[in-house]
Amino acid sequence: MEKGGAGTYSDGKLYTRSKKRGDVRRILEILVAHGASDDILFDAHPHIGTNKLPKLVAELRQTILDAGGEIYFNTCVTDFLLDIDEIKGIVTQKGDRMTADAVILATGHSARDVFHLLHQKKIHIEAKPFALGVRVEHSQNLIDQIQYHCPINRGPYLPASSYSLVHQAKVNGQERGVFSFCMCPGGFIVPAATAPGEIVVNGMSPSRRDSKFANSGIVVAVAEPDFKKYLDKGALAGMFFQAEIEQKACALAGSTQTAPAQRLIDFVNGKVSNSLLETSYQPGLASLDMRAVLPQFVSEALKQGFKNFGSKMKGYLTNDAQIVGVESRTSSPVRIPRNNETLEHVQTKRLFPCGEGAGYAGGIVSAAMDGERCAEAAVRKYIKAN
Ligand SMILES: Cc1cc2nc3c(=O)[nH]c(=O)nc-3n(C[C@H](O)[C@H](O)[C@H](O)COP(=O)(O)OP(=O)(O)OC[C@H]3O[C@@H](n4cnc5c(N)ncnc54)[C@H](O)[C@@H]3O)c2cc1C
Repeated sequence: MEKGGAGTYSDGKLYTRSKKRGDVRRILEILVAHGASDDILFDAHPHIGTNKLPKLVAELRQTILDAGGEIYFNTCVTDFLLDIDEIKGIVTQKGDRMTADAVILATGHSARDVFHLLHQKKIHIEAKPFALGVRVEHSQNLIDQIQYHCPINRGPYLPASSYSLVHQAKVNGQERGVFSFCMCPGGFIVPAATAPGEIVVNGMSPSRRDSKFANSGIVVAVAEPDFKKYLDKGALAGMFFQAEIEQKACALAGSTQTAPAQRLIDFVNGKVSNSLLETSYQPGLASLDMRAVLPQFVSEALKQGFKNFGSKMKGYLTNDAQIVGVESRTSSPVRIPRNNETLEHVQTKRLFPCGEGAGYAGGIVSAAMDGERCAEAAVRKYIKAN
């Protein structure tokens, strides 16, 4: 278990489209009770900020401890205790066996070891569509000028502006959704790999959103037919496809955390950039033809997407912006199927697949709501009141 998961290191944007999945307001109130500003209760686009999250997560942890919960840091689940079609507990990397009336599996979308374990134990999992692409970085001032129509800068009162873009590309005769994802005004591009030999980028912004950069994931929908090469990996096909691109990005950019990058118009024109721009990505950038990193259909869809975005936001498609790869962890490449009503795994009793890694959440708020629902479902069915 880690200290709060991806959520601790995230940006803390709290917008969610999954209002049907639970009580968003309740989650926001819990966050406020643990130190978030109460602005988030009425802001249309609530945001906590990367810098404020660690303290908030520590407060949440204290509440769990005060209620009798136990937390084990640096303790990895490496095996499941199974009895035919029932899970009885887990085994840790230290060899400790922990039995339980129910197990909520909420290990996130990057827990490849857990997906391998589920597959190996023949606990039913499925490959699922996700999205993959790059981060694009502009100066925040340029995005402000486009969005606010201000000739110089946004001035002292307006917040750093954001955008949300979508385009339906057509590649090799097939429609492909291209969309902006996790736009971070006044933010940073950050390394988000979880294993050596791979490059993964993500974005975050401090609460004041005051960096001079604006970045956003621009990603292309990928689905099972795209993973054909890994058909022999069964339900893990999408995960292998995702890993291959992350590893290629790392190898081509010099096998460190230096990320491959290309200026935006150069990418669209298929030209390697002679030089790159200043960036918020701390490990640094290597100038590469991003088409060598990304699958052909992803590059082509991105190219069409960027042209379309340039027509929607005048000035967006410019060589004063650059793309940085790869944004590959938008959502889980695996689903752990569960019963819609009981939230229990479709075959393995007492197992409750939960959160983003299982395919039931796509951000902080939806993951929190799913966590609550799974805990309530597990208690309802298996935990006897004293
Ligand atoms: C840089 C960044 C910025 C983001 N910005 C935003 C944002 O602004 N807004 C938003 O809504 N979302 C954002 N997200 C996404 C958000 O953080 C996730 O959607 C959310 O944290 C998912 O919650 P989860 O509980 O399902 O999984 P996670 O938060 O990933 O938690 C999984 C936990 O399981 C642990 N674990 C994994 N394997 C094992 C194992 N074998 N044994 C024991 N423990 C294990 C992990 O260490 C981790 O603690 C961002 C993510 C990142 C990385």
